[in-house]
Amino acid sequence: MGESKILLSSPHMGGTEVKYVQEAFDTNWIAPLGKNVIEFENQVKKFTGSNAACALSSGTAGIHIALDLLGVQQGDVVFCSSLTFIASANPILYLGAKPVFIDSDLESWNMSPIALEKAFKAYEEKGKLPKAVVIVNLYGQSAKMDELMAICDNYNVPVVEDAAESLGALYKGKMSGTFGKFGVFSFNGNKIITTSGGGMIVSDDEEMIQKALKKATQARDQAVHYQHSEVGYNYRLSNISAGIGRGQMEVLEQRINEKREIFNRYEEALGAIDGIEMMPELENTYHNRWLSTMIIDSEKFGVSVLEIIEHLAKNNIEARPVWKPMHMQPLFEKCDYFSEEKDNSKYLYENGICLPSDTKMTVEQQEFVINEIKDILS
Ligand SMILES: *Cc1c(COP(=O)(O)O)cnc(C)c1O
Repeated sequence: MGESKILLSSPHMGGTEVKYVQEAFDTNWIAPLGKNVIEFENQVKKFTGSNAACALSSGTAGIHIALDLLGVQQGDVVFCSSLTFIASANPILYLGAKPVFIDSDLESWNMSPIALEKAFKAYEEKGKLPKAVVIVNLYGQSAKMDELMAICDNYNVPVVEDAAESLGALYKGKMSGTFGKFGVFSFNGNKIITTSGGGMIVSDDEEMIQKALKKATQARDQAVHYQHSEVGYNYRLSNISAGIGRGQMEVLEQRINEKREIFNRYEEALGAIDGIEMMPELENTYHNRWLSTMIIDSEKFGVSVLEIIEHLAKNNIEARPVWKPMHMQPLFEKCDYFSEEKDNSKYLYENGICLPSDTKMTVEQQEFVINEIKDILS
């Protein structure tokens, strides 16, 4: 049972991916453009209900382009969720801007409206409102978009929704990634669907996505000769990778169902134990449960999160801590941070654990994981 490693989240092909990749070979469209790229964009548009989409080489590239198109420049301020993977914040640095980090609330684990309002008030007083706000939807849970959008609209500051982990999640019936000026998805190897590496930027503003496409292809002006008037990047998705994406889109809903079943099994087995709290699902939202996560009261059990992870690793089980918040990172030591009364993101980091959520994991394997967790806790 403990022989083959049980993984956190690994690529899970549906079967038709190879057909689309073969098509790319057969037609010799081995390039960062072609039919697979266009079709993959169409699928994501249709699925999310966005007006426009541009496939990119990574989610990070999407956040970079979004912030660039919103005019973020040297010396500007950008607000960003603290509890996230660093890819949400790195593009702020690429543009020479200064990130300011915002705490999470405990109901969604995502950006706290209270902390966001605090940050806006403080920066309004300084006369330096942010150029943009990057809102992350962690582990497949949508942030409190109504409250957060109302605050940002009130200050007239555009939102980039980092939906890298939340493709297919819903907030009040609307797809995660479609609330901000831009939404960004990731198709990295560990995400709910993958193209081996890739991303997509979506928006209801078709003109903005045209601009994103231009930015992603070295910002070439419309002219036969090679003319450029602005900075651009080489960020387009390959037609090979997009072929994988086409097949993956066909199984996305199935993957979400499987991820939710995995979470439900953990919840059933562990959720009622005193000292364990599963990651909540906000009312009126649909969590894609990319990763099953929970909070453990270490004092109560007399064992730390890291000790649990170590114990599981010895049994060939991959588990991870919750993301280390950006305001605790050496890289961002000098950056401002606004928390609720208590530092929630620090608490979630110190007590949270991501459990194996691989859709290839069998029920028996998951039972093995659950028993190992029960073992170390008792
Ligand atoms: C994966 C991820 C990204 C970046 O996506 P890449 O495709 O790996 O560049 C951004 N934000 C979050 C929260 C992520 O988990």
